[in-house]
Amino acid sequence: MSAPSRTDESVAPEGCENLFFLIPLAPGLDEQGGERDRYFEEIMVRLERHLGRDLRPHVVYTRSFAHKEFEQEYSSFKGNAYGLANTLRQTAFWKPKMRSKLPGLHFAGQLTTPGPGVPPSLISGEVAAEETGKFLKRHGAVEHATTQAG
Ligand SMILES: Cc1cc2nc3c(=O)[nH]c(=O)nc-3n(C[C@H](O)[C@H](O)[C@H](O)COP(=O)(O)OP(=O)(O)OC[C@H]3O[C@@H](n4cnc5c(N)ncnc54)[C@H](O)[C@@H]3O)c2cc1C
Repeated sequence: MSAPSRTDESVAPEGCENLFFLIPLAPGLDEQGGERDRYFEEIMVRLERHLGRDLRPHVVYTRSFAHKEFEQEYSSFKGNAYGLANTLRQTAFWKPKMRSKLPGLHFAGQLTTPGPGVPPSLISGEVAAEETGKFLKRHGAVEHATTQAG
């Protein structure tokens, strides 16, 4: 759970708070309807237990964003939000490689090495750019492109 309105007043109307709840779910879940309301209710009950206060009467707006929306808005496989599952065959050197079988093509982002999360994704972009630069140098492509442009 996070409360972004504590540090960013633009995310809630004056006098209100914006609360964000992250619920881990399995990818590809089938929804019959009503599940999201049930999960929300569970959160509210748990929160009441911790806070000693019922937040429900104060809720003015809710929005959920789950696997269906990840599929529709981000073309993500089975609505996956966190990259590859940590199964043995997708871990360490079994992870999809950054270097493609096509020479000079490098992948970046959470689905390749080093893995999920913003810092690893940024590192992966840096490494992919470096490797592509090295490839272009080795093959004289940068020099060629510069000469052509010049
Ligand atoms: C709810 C949530 C909370 C998270 N919290 C944290 C956190 O606290 N700390 C942390 O480090 N990480 C967190 N992560 C993980 C982190 O957000 C990701 O690992 C990271 O953003 C992955 O970066 P990426 O560039 O690989 O992919 P993305 O950020 O997913 O970017 C991929 C982009 O490709 C676009 N795209 C997809 N298909 C196509 C297509 N066919 N053509 C063109 N574009 C396309 C998508 O629209 C998207 O913009 C969180 C993730 C989620 C979902």
